[in-house]
Amino acid sequence: MHGNTNESAPAEAIAGGSPRVAHWKPAHVGRFALMHVIGLGGPFIVGTSLQSWIVCAVLYVVHMFFVTAAYHRYFSHRTFQTSRAFQFVMAWMAQSTGQRGVIWWARNHRHHHRFSDTAEDIHSPVQTGFLQSHMGWIFDESIQATGKTVSDLERFPELRWLDKHWLVPPVVNGLILFAATDLQTSISGFFLSMVLVWHGTFTINSLCHVWGWRRYATTDTSRNNIWLALLTLGEGWHNNHHHYMRSTRQGFFPGEIDITYGILRLMALVGLVWDLREPPAELLEGMQKVRVAVPELRRASQPLG
Ligand SMILES: [Zn+2]
Ligand SMILES: [Zn+2]
Repeated sequence: MHGNTNESAPAEAIAGGSPRVAHWKPAHVGRFALMHVIGLGGPFIVGTSLQSWIVCAVLYVVHMFFVTAAYHRYFSHRTFQTSRAFQFVMAWMAQSTGQRGVIWWARNHRHHHRFSDTAEDIHSPVQTGFLQSHMGWIFDESIQATGKTVSDLERFPELRWLDKHWLVPPVVNGLILFAATDLQTSISGFFLSMVLVWHGTFTINSLCHVWGWRRYATTDTSRNNIWLALLTLGEGWHNNHHHYMRSTRQGFFPGEIDITYGILRLMALVGLVWDLREPPAELLEGMQKVRVAVPELRRASQPLG
């Protein structure tokens, strides 16, 4: 957990040192490419229907919710509490989006906050270029040994099992969809929807560090962007989030729409989750209209991607 709002990157990680050397695992790249071929080409071959589009859209929203509520706000940042049973449900549903195990995701994400936009960052568009920041990180095996940053998650055997067998949830959920619906609905609902969720998620790592405005003078290039917030159910308030990552909500002011937070509030009403964290009042006071510039960042000598 790296929740210090003013945490600076360690000096040795600032650009000017050696850039990270990405190691893309071919199996991940191949699976990713195949999903795109079926997801983007399949609907042209088998056709679509009103039902297939509705299922695609509904599963986009459901899956995006679990990306942001589970992978990000719960497993990576522990911004709220839940039961062990619902923790498992959140892990299963997050992993249904095919973005690998929750422990792997949280480890990478905590690393991103610790080393944001330095040479060490696994997905900085400033350091590594668009391709690596957008999707190369999901294939990348180069930060496996980064110390005990996820021991809070590793103490649960069921999470360790899911993390190790991270393809089980998407395969099982996909088979259920194939058994329960027709081919058109299965192709659009599983393959196309998953590809859209991937690129929706990935915009936060790539575009949300280059497109948008900044309220808080963080040491990274994170931005706030309402279009990306709508696309990702609230993740577009990324500069707010980089400044104070312990808060469950990322939209800090009226108009900063955060659908994930709204759904979590509803879940809290029925007791599924609790102890949702708020940003401290002193971080909000007089800040609604404040705008700050992007910091000058030195770039590593040999960018990736
Ligand atoms: Zn985060
Ligand atoms: Zn970021």
